[in-house]
Amino acid sequence: MTDKNDLADRVVLITGASRGIGYFSAIEAAKRGAHVIAIARTVGGLEDLDDEIQAAGGSATLVPLDLLDGDAIDRMGGAIFERWGKLDGLMANAGMLGSISPISHLAPKEVDKVFKLNVTANFRLIRSLEPLLKQSDAGRVLFVSSSSAYSCKPYWGLYAASKAALNAMAKSYAGENANTKLNINVINPGPTRTQMRAKAVPGEDPETIPHPREVAPKFIDLISPDYTENGQYIDLKNDGKTSPL
Ligand code: NDP
Repeated sequence: MTDKNDLADRVVLITGASRGIGYFSAIEAAKRGAHVIAIARTVGGLEDLDDEIQAAGGSATLVPLDLLDGDAIDRMGGAIFERWGKLDGLMANAGMLGSISPISHLAPKEVDKVFKLNVTANFRLIRSLEPLLKQSDAGRVLFVSSSSAYSCKPYWGLYAASKAALNAMAKSYAGENANTKLNINVINPGPTRTQMRAKAVPGEDPETIPHPREVAPKFIDLISPDYTENGQYIDLKNDGKTSPL
């Protein structure tokens, strides 16, 4: 964690904040002065987050919400408008792995669900939140993707295709905003010690990969007004190497 104060008076929304990468990124953002709007379904995880943020002297608003519910995302945008009139940062982090499985064995319902969370929910977030992000003097959107979007390993097709779709959306959206104050970038966290990683690679010793607390500052740096790039893919699996989307 850092002692920067670059997010003072800024309002930042983080999806998937009840555990893992989103949880520790939310703490980092709050420590750097942001008011954090924390989204996830699990109220207990959000309450733990709130306790930690308050103990660190920060502030958060908890929004228990299922991102599969697009209308609820729209209502949230309206509520943020009424309370703050703007949004300075969106870290679109919530995601799911789905089954690691031969493509032909995937249940259609699961395919729909993974795409709905990893892709469609992010379209809905942009639709609902863009007017607020455009009210910021330096709006920042960070989509959390995966190297799977490029590696497309056998049996990882569902997750890989959803993250490739996310990257494509982000690239288009960054292009749309090339000449605005709103910047859009994508990050690949690389292997990180979370529930999702344990499910994806069950035989791995978790102690051999970074804890989300360690990588959180790198995520939050990218939604800071100090980060001025647009349309970049930041690859933490590759020492933070940055390349155009
Ligand atoms: P976790 O599974 O630990 O956390 C996922 C978060 O998403 C939880 O807070 C969960 O909250 C939330 N979430 C899941 N479904 C929904 C839903 N329907 N509505 C609202 N929130 C939801 O994952 P990680 O922290 O590991 O992953 C974060 C991001 O990083 C993901 O996009 C993932 O694809 C990506 N990533 C992770 C890597 C890793 O090694 N960990 C590597 C590469 C990419 P709740 O269940 O309470 O709703």
